[in-house]
Amino acid sequence: MKIDFNLPYLTGEELNYIQKAVADGKLSGNGLHTKKCHAFFEKRYHFKKTLLTTSCTDALEMSSLLLNIQEGDEVIIPSFTFVSTSNAFVLRGAKIIFADSSPTNPNIDPERIEELITPKTKAIVVVHYAGVACDMDAILAIALKHNLYVVEDAAQAVDSYYKERPLGGIGDLGTFSFHETKNIISGEGGMLAVNNEKFIERSEIIWEKGTNRSAFFRGEVDKYGWVDVGSSFLPSELIAAFLYAQLENLDAIQNRRKEIWQLYFNRLSTLQNMNLVKLPNIPSYATNNAHMFYLVCKTIEERTLLIKYLRGKGIHAVFHYLSLHKSPFYKKYHDGRVLQYCDQFADCLVRLPFFFQLSNEQLNYICDAILKFYSKNKRID
Ligand SMILES: *Cc1c(COP(=O)(O)O)cnc(C)c1O
Repeated sequence: MKIDFNLPYLTGEELNYIQKAVADGKLSGNGLHTKKCHAFFEKRYHFKKTLLTTSCTDALEMSSLLLNIQEGDEVIIPSFTFVSTSNAFVLRGAKIIFADSSPTNPNIDPERIEELITPKTKAIVVVHYAGVACDMDAILAIALKHNLYVVEDAAQAVDSYYKERPLGGIGDLGTFSFHETKNIISGEGGMLAVNNEKFIERSEIIWEKGTNRSAFFRGEVDKYGWVDVGSSFLPSELIAAFLYAQLENLDAIQNRRKEIWQLYFNRLSTLQNMNLVKLPNIPSYATNNAHMFYLVCKTIEERTLLIKYLRGKGIHAVFHYLSLHKSPFYKKYHDGRVLQYCDQFADCLVRLPFFFQLSNEQLNYICDAILKFYSKNKRID
C-alpha cells in the first residue's frame, strides 16, 4: 500500500463554479464569488470584516502594514511556526522576539510572554498549531496590560474555537490559509479577518493596491485614487469560485476529518498510556478542527527511525517546523535564549497522513504499522 501525506480533496463543484465565473466574464478579484466567500465567513463566524487574499502569507503581510510596523519595532512570535508568520513582520523592519512553546503543546506558552516585553514591543502574534487554540484569555490580558496588538495566525484553524469564540476572530486581526495542505483549500489562498474596527477601512485600501476603489464602487466616493500604501493582495474570481465550492461542503469535510482524527486517537492512545509517545493535547478551552494528527516521539533518533520504518511500508509521515530562532536566516539576530520546548517539538514531532479521502482501511494499516514499530522497539504486545 502507498499512502501520501496529503492529497487535495475536491467536492465536485469547483470546476462548475469556475466555469460560471468564466461565463460571467468577470475574472479579476472582488467579484460575485469573492463576495459569497466573505458573506459565508461573516455570517457563520461573525467576523466583522473579511478579505480574501492569495495566501495566509499575504494576510500576515497585510497585518504588518495595518499595525504600521516600523524599523526597530519588536514583535513576539512563537519560534515553532512557519516562516511566513515571521517574514511578514521582518519585511517591515521588525525585530522578532521568539517565544517558546508550552511544555504540553506546540502553542506559545503564555506564561513566558511577559518577560519578553520591552518598550519597543508592538504586537504578539500567536499561532493556533494544528487548529488547537492558544490560551487566548491569558494572551489578551497581557496585550491589554501592555497595550499591544494581537494577531492570530489561524492558518490551520478554520472552524475551530476557543471557549465558543471562533479562532481568527479574537485578536485584532486573524489570518487564514487555504493552501492545498489545509482543511479547506483553493490551491493557494488565504483570508484576513479584521476584528478591530479601527482597521476595517484601511484594510480594504491596502488590499486594493492602496486605492479607495472599493469605496468608489459602493458609491461612497465620487472618484478613486491612490490614498495609502498597499499591494495586490486579492485573489482572482477563479480562486474564489473554487473556494466557495469547498465552503459549501465545510461541514461534510470537517465531519470526515474528525472521524479520521478520532480513529487515529483511539488506536494509538495505547502508546500514550504506555508512555511511549505523546498524542495531541486538546485543552478544555479548545475545540479540535482535525487539521492534523501527530505523535511526539521521545528523541529525534526514534523519530527518524519511525519515519524510515513507515516509509518502508509506503506510508509518508513527516516532521514539521524547524525552530526559527535557529534558522540560517535568523539565528544571528536571536538573543541566545534556549527555547527548550520549541526545540523538542522540532526534533520529536511527526505528522501522520491526513486527508479527507483516507479510508478506514488505510488508517488501520498506518496504525498497525506504528504499533508494530513500537512493539518491535519497545517490546509491547
Ligand atoms: C500554512 C501556514 C502558513 C502559510 O500559509 P500560506 O497560505 O501558504 O501562505 C502560515 N502560518 C501557518 C501556521 C501555516 O500553517
